[in-house]
Amino acid sequence: MKGRDDLLLREARERFLRYVRVDTRSDPESGAHPSSDGQWDLAGLLAEELDVLGLEGVEVDGGCYLYARLPAAGGVEAPALCLCAHLDTSPSESGEGVTPLLHEQYQGGPIHFPDDPELILNPELSPELNACIGHTIITASGRTLLGADDKAGIAEIMAALSAFRRFDELPHPELRIVFTPDEEIGQGTRGIDLERLAPVGYTVDGGDMGVIEEECFTAHEVRVLFTGRNVHPGYAKDRMINAGAAAARFAASLPEHDTPEHAEDREGFSHLTGLEGQENEARLTYILRDFDEENNRKRVALLEGLAGLFQRRYPGLIVRVDVLEQYRNMKEALALHPDVVARAERAVKAVGLQPVKKPIRGGTDGARLSFMGMPCPNLFSGAMLPHSRTEWVSETVMQKASETIVRLCGLWCSG
Ligand SMILES: [Zn+2]
Repeated sequence: MKGRDDLLLREARERFLRYVRVDTRSDPESGAHPSSDGQWDLAGLLAEELDVLGLEGVEVDGGCYLYARLPAAGGVEAPALCLCAHLDTSPSESGEGVTPLLHEQYQGGPIHFPDDPELILNPELSPELNACIGHTIITASGRTLLGADDKAGIAEIMAALSAFRRFDELPHPELRIVFTPDEEIGQGTRGIDLERLAPVGYTVDGGDMGVIEEECFTAHEVRVLFTGRNVHPGYAKDRMINAGAAAARFAASLPEHDTPEHAEDREGFSHLTGLEGQENEARLTYILRDFDEENNRKRVALLEGLAGLFQRRYPGLIVRVDVLEQYRNMKEALALHPDVVARAERAVKAVGLQPVKKPIRGGTDGARLSFMGMPCPNLFSGAMLPHSRTEWVSETVMQKASETIVRLCGLWCSG
């Protein structure tokens, strides 16, 4: 065991430090697929490493999806298993020139950043640090995010693969590895090849030690388009219909408590993400998020009801409401395959951690994949405070995550 622990720790750390130096920040404005060139660089680097590890069918396809296969070992007949992680980092902070810093033997208290003396990471900001006394903590230098989301997940999968290569007595089913581009901008499954997935999968893109995520938001986007009528303001009485002003009143009519600023835990919200317009035309954009689809239906009904009311209140004003389903709570799909989460819990326990089931206040590639036919909960990677310049990860937690993957693969061999 000691040999395996050391190998996983070293492999996860060394690979992680290599991957975070590649700038893979995705760009929601680019319109290209993938949305940034750096993702090709990381995919290329990983393809070489997968070749060295002896995987089969290693290929980066035209959409920057990286696929590879590891044949089953241990003489077991078991369905193939898919392991997924994403190549890109969040557009919210720079990912250019990431300089990872190792804070060895963390003793508690604040961590400072050389490139921004104002910036502080401490247990008040991230209480999970308290469980990491004595660990080596990795952060960036204060100028960029770290990119542990999701390069920790990639490094942990790669470390597990290298353990399978080194210790050939470890049983595992056929493994299908998929690294996806542009997850952070909601495009991670856009060009995925379903043929190369497996009956069951796991994303390694979660947060704290022991966390298994089997539930995420149900997500809708709603656009409300106001069409008015402009005339000279000096001669506007009973003629002008000011779409922009109507849109502002419409937005102000919605309940203030039902917004992200007032929601936590299992509460959903309606979030105004865009507001633009003038007299002739105006547009409001909302994203609706909830764990219960019924609540989003009520939010849509409220918006539609209000649209009707505004048309009666301002004769001649046209208000159109368009609703787009973005992703669904994967719990519904995972409920049909309870053993997928149950085995993840057993694997987490097997590495000496307490499984923690947490709903994701967002979405994952796994949610979409679960509805595409591959049940796919999310496993912890150890990435904490993602999308920020205080992002951090513990080396020991990365090792535990990697060992969880190894154990999980073993559990799928034992029926
Ligand atoms: Zn992620």
